[in-house]
Amino acid sequence: MADSDLFIDIVAPNGQRYKQPRGLFINNEFVRSSEGKTIASIDPGTDTEIASVYAASTEDVDTAVKAAQKALKDPSWKLLPGTDRGRLMSRLADLIEEKKELFATIDAWDNGKPYQVALNEDLPEAIGTIRYYSGWADKTFGQTISTTHAKFAYTLRQPIGVVGQIIPWNYPLSMAAWKLGPALACGNTVVIKAAEQTPLSILVLGTLIAEAGFPPGVVNIINGYGKEAGAALVAHPLVDKIAFTGSTVTAREIMKLAAGTLKNITLETGGKSPLLVFPDADIEQAVKWSHFGIFSNQGQICTATSRILVHEQIFDKFVDQLKAAIKTTSKIGSQWEESTFQGPQVTRAQYERVLSYIESGISEGATIAAGGSPVSSSLSDAHKDGYFINPTIFTNVKDSMRIYREEIFGPVVVVVAFASEEEAIQRANDTTYGLGAAVFTRDLERAHRVAAEIEAGMVWVNSSQDCDPRIPFGGVKQSGIGRELGEAGLEAYTQTKAVHVNMGTKL
Ligand code: NAD
Repeated sequence: MADSDLFIDIVAPNGQRYKQPRGLFINNEFVRSSEGKTIASIDPGTDTEIASVYAASTEDVDTAVKAAQKALKDPSWKLLPGTDRGRLMSRLADLIEEKKELFATIDAWDNGKPYQVALNEDLPEAIGTIRYYSGWADKTFGQTISTTHAKFAYTLRQPIGVVGQIIPWNYPLSMAAWKLGPALACGNTVVIKAAEQTPLSILVLGTLIAEAGFPPGVVNIINGYGKEAGAALVAHPLVDKIAFTGSTVTAREIMKLAAGTLKNITLETGGKSPLLVFPDADIEQAVKWSHFGIFSNQGQICTATSRILVHEQIFDKFVDQLKAAIKTTSKIGSQWEESTFQGPQVTRAQYERVLSYIESGISEGATIAAGGSPVSSSLSDAHKDGYFINPTIFTNVKDSMRIYREEIFGPVVVVVAFASEEEAIQRANDTTYGLGAAVFTRDLERAHRVAAEIEAGMVWVNSSQDCDPRIPFGGVKQSGIGRELGEAGLEAYTQTKAVHVNMGTKL
């Protein structure tokens, strides 16, 4: 299988050596794309190319889907008992864990996130999710339903079929795990497309899928451009379901394309999640979580708490402390420095997009309380072309401004004041999004009352960004359709068949 064009020897900046696959992973083998097109992966810390990988054409998507379709009907997968499916998944989790330093290296290099964050946050999440769903593989079953003595009725929970999965670049490996875990636990077969910005780690995952012993065609991995390979996957008549994470704009396109064959869809899209700080809150905690909730992962989190609403009595104190937290915590620089909190934005396009939002905030009349510019002086020579942006706080923000209403997906936060609980809830809900929301208060009654009133798929009380494979994740309004993670995540990957058995002779 080893072929110099399909695998390249790599030495990462941290000294890690490995073989990077470059092909499309179809039927447990790496193959070239039919048209020979490639995608270059860029290190956003230095603006230099890491490697290029093959990009799928429409024809390659068709090949991958047909491989998944064949595997779905193959007895080696179709008739595999759930317990054995779970064992394969658990082996996969173990193999990822054995290579966790390698995966953290690749994702830090490809995405720009600090290596320590990739290793200590992304990897446990990816491994934990596959392991969690391995346990569900023999626990998703139907019911028997009492009717009359003349009828025996039961339901079967069956896989949906061939699932197309399209993932974003902000958590390359863990987004793949969120999608693969429940799909495989329920017995589906998969064609998964990585984001063109971060194509590398998922190909190494392919080698482990083969090594774990999954039958060929059960998991097929393609890189490719959204408008070509992504769209071809969504439109393909043999794909039964699409699960997508990414922008709301793309999700709309996907809904339209999926309508052609009436596909089942799950969408996890953008957000403009509010974080509410009431006057009775522990301000130190509120500041700590506010900082983490918008500035971690370079602000590239769909659930980032990017709108902070603070009671007017404590507004100035809160803003001063958040500015101080940036000074003490937001060490910006190379992915490989152990002390780095914030690395570069993922691509030049995202970097420029975030800076253009900062410009729009300034031109619409908001005040920059911190940051507001690219990082320049503190970077080493090697990093001077990297995509680094200073953590930015805007005050004097009106609810009509773009920086208040639109998802920026970078280290930029707006902080506004409110006067009453009623006003806080009304303004928190004044958005087309509804992904996460955080509430800081020491008043138990208020915490639960506000949690119930906020229009969001997830609410954090006195924290931000909690995420756990056991707990459902997803949005309301234009933040998505359906749920991932937890038992709720299984719903997205099974369908219920009802069986009526006639036990009598009367009509
Ligand atoms: P995107 O939605 O364009 O891309 C996400 C995935 O969808 C990628 O794999 C891409 O190849 C694919 N895709 C793109 N167009 C497609 C199409 N027409 N049909 C099928 N698949 C398609 O997101 P992006 O360009 O990477 O980022 C743009 C913005 O999206 C960000 O600034 C941010 O606001 C948001 N975003 C949100 C999340 C999230 O987790 N909610 C993640 C990444 C980006």
